[in-house]
Amino acid sequence: MHRFDGNRKRSIVLVALLGSGLIAFAVALNVSFIVVNWRTGLLVLLGVIGLVVLVGGLTLNTAFLIREIRRSEQHDAFIHAVTHELKTPLASIKLYLQTLRQRDLPAGKQHDVIDTMLDDSDRLQQTIDQILLAGKTGDPRRVEHPADVDVCEIVSECVSLAGKRYHLANGEVAYVHRPPVGAFVVQGDREELVAAVTNLVDNAVKYSGDRVRVAVEVARVGARRVAISVRDQGIGITGHELKRVFRRFYRLPAALRSRVRGTGLGLSIVRAVARRHGGRAYAESRGAGRGSTFTLELPLKAS
Ligand code: ADP
Repeated sequence: MHRFDGNRKRSIVLVALLGSGLIAFAVALNVSFIVVNWRTGLLVLLGVIGLVVLVGGLTLNTAFLIREIRRSEQHDAFIHAVTHELKTPLASIKLYLQTLRQRDLPAGKQHDVIDTMLDDSDRLQQTIDQILLAGKTGDPRRVEHPADVDVCEIVSECVSLAGKRYHLANGEVAYVHRPPVGAFVVQGDREELVAAVTNLVDNAVKYSGDRVRVAVEVARVGARRVAISVRDQGIGITGHELKRVFRRFYRLPAALRSRVRGTGLGLSIVRAVARRHGGRAYAESRGAGRGSTFTLELPLKAS
């Protein structure tokens, strides 16, 4: 990975240097052209247009190349993360199975081992589901065959599932101002909506650090929309990153440094699900270290 990082950095520096060198050369060429021909109006005009076109083209080309290098960097990080997410739980399951076969463990210990293997298989399942869903929601068209989905019911399910998955104590993830089941009904794909809310709750827990304080809220927005907000008091996000985090494969340097597990797919799925339901997803934060709130807004079923 480090060797690739080094090569990539060198490529970016090279492309940037080459681009700026060419831009400087184009400017010098055109300025001298204009100076030499300043008497001939038409040539001056052509020179100015040539300058604008050349500099514009070179700038675009340089920006494009740098963006492509960054993208390929993110793809590599994604492949690395997915490989890790698939190999680690599998290796752990294999090891525990070998232990079970070789040693006669007491009943209590056996239960612990089986529980760990179940956690590992959940982790495997989650990664696979996430990849499959990313493929499915990559299609920007609206959900086919939408059904009635009760927002409060799925939020309640996702909150209790997160509590179990992360072995959280009561109140660490709280479903606050809980409207009654049936209060908000949307039309869509239940599986996709559950996955979107689960991703938001999972992230809130993952990026909270040691002190998990997550509040999930469902509220009406205007006359025809409902918002599901997930608020945490975790590592937060700086202003210019608030939109970027929804890009596919994008992970913040803080997330990479903190070694929190992830593939960079979750929020791109949330945004795609929101769009496929005619809604939107957005993030708010007061800055690094000051928590974040992610909101999924969906149109209510017309009554
Ligand atoms: P993953 O969590 O698998 O890395 P996501 O697409 O879910 O991928 O999130 C993209 C990035 O957005 C994360 O890597 C992290 O840097 C940032 N992020 C997501 N949720 C939060 C949050 N609640 N608080 C702070 N940063 C977050």
